[in-house]
Amino acid sequence: MPKARETVLEIDLKALKHNYEYLKSKLNNNTKVLAVVKAFAYGSDADEIAKYLQDLKVDYFAVAYISEGVALRDAGIRTPILVLHPQAINFKILIERCLEPSLYNAKILNEFITVASEEKQNNYPVHIKFNTGLNRLGFDENDVDTVVSIATETSTIKVKSIFSHLAESENLKERDFTRQQIERFKHISDAFTERIGYKPILHLANTSGILNYPEAHLDMVRSGIGLYGYGNSEEEDKNLKPIATLKSIISQIHTIKKGETVGYNRAYKSDDLKKTATIPIGHADGIGRQYGNKKGFITINGSKAFIIGNVCMDMIMVDITDIDCNEGDEVIIFGDHPNASQFAHTANTISYEIITAISQRVKRLIIDN
Ligand SMILES: *Cc1c(COP(=O)(O)O)cnc(C)c1O
Repeated sequence: MPKARETVLEIDLKALKHNYEYLKSKLNNNTKVLAVVKAFAYGSDADEIAKYLQDLKVDYFAVAYISEGVALRDAGIRTPILVLHPQAINFKILIERCLEPSLYNAKILNEFITVASEEKQNNYPVHIKFNTGLNRLGFDENDVDTVVSIATETSTIKVKSIFSHLAESENLKERDFTRQQIERFKHISDAFTERIGYKPILHLANTSGILNYPEAHLDMVRSGIGLYGYGNSEEEDKNLKPIATLKSIISQIHTIKKGETVGYNRAYKSDDLKKTATIPIGHADGIGRQYGNKKGFITINGSKAFIIGNVCMDMIMVDITDIDCNEGDEVIIFGDHPNASQFAHTANTISYEIITAISQRVKRLIIDN
């Protein structure tokens, strides 16, 4: 890996391959894999990740919004793309770009059929989402008959898959709840398949569902966080490799006398002679203010340097009193150690939040060797 000369997010495609293969090793050979590449592939680089996974013959992609699917098509992605949370205003674009909508209530299902008919579509692939306990998006289990009658009244659409989403597959203390969701989904999918007369793809498991509930793998699994190297437990984190390493450099070193303060609002007040380093990364880059005031730390030459005072928009100041380092030295915010999950933990949040927060201002550097 090259030494950083500025703030950079390195994306290691070999780590991605490792994670993809690890997750696949948990599945039967005929279980399909959908890679979730929403939110810039969890803050990495959706185009590069999708191209790489397309070459590895991943079966499906998912994004949250239609604009994200359009960007993937613009990048040359030909693999089917499921749009998890499409908005009706963009349905025409969705059809033009061969994106496949998740439809989760009668209103949006009918809105889609209207646009698809106007666009003279036949058997357009759609995905029906059922709510089994997350209470976020999805038809109710009692809506099976309604969906089937709407879907069979027209030839414009064809139900390519039915799916649901687990609420806490990572929490083994809530096994009963997850098992109940799995059962509910099986009940729904049995009824649906019988009523509609053909078999859509069934899918339910996210990354932790893959790792913890083999009985939920069904026809396809949807993995996001696992592909990026996090398994929602220390145990599983060991089997995966973080694909992203956030690095920066020391811009300037200051000596702070006892009684002096550092940063905005003079939030840090020195009780002794201290040395600080200023790093060009701030809350506009995704390091939120909650990491300030000695919550978060970065790593300099293997040692922990705590963030002191408030996080600025473009900078943080860290305590390097006991660290041997120089202006221009590389610093690590997260990567292999600490990983993003451990870094996030210092501010009471989770890997998902910190990795997707790294703003587009930070340069992405793709590493493929
Ligand atoms: C984001 C998302 C996923 C991916 O979940 P991970 O825990 O990151 O694997 C899967 N399914 C749906 C519906 C999602 O919104």
